[in-house]
Amino acid sequence: MCNWCGVWPCAPNCPNRTAQPVGRCVRCAEALYEADWYIPSPWGPLCEECAREMLLRSRCRVQTAEEGGCA
Ligand SMILES: [Zn+2]
Ligand SMILES: [Zn+2]
Repeated sequence: MCNWCGVWPCAPNCPNRTAQPVGRCVRCAEALYEADWYIPSPWGPLCEECAREMLLRSRCRVQTAEEGGCA
């Protein structure tokens, strides 16, 4: 969802309407823009919503990903 106009796709008068996404959330495929809050993960960028859910559900995997994964 757009941070500026609050809808998706953007409202016709939204300045983000022509912005190119910097990537897509690897989980929900939502387009991610420079201004959006998102985190890079070992699997690719995650939107805020998915990042929170992944952290809650897969704390072990997220925390240990940089160390080579969870045993
Ligand atoms: Zn918008
Ligand atoms: Zn997502």
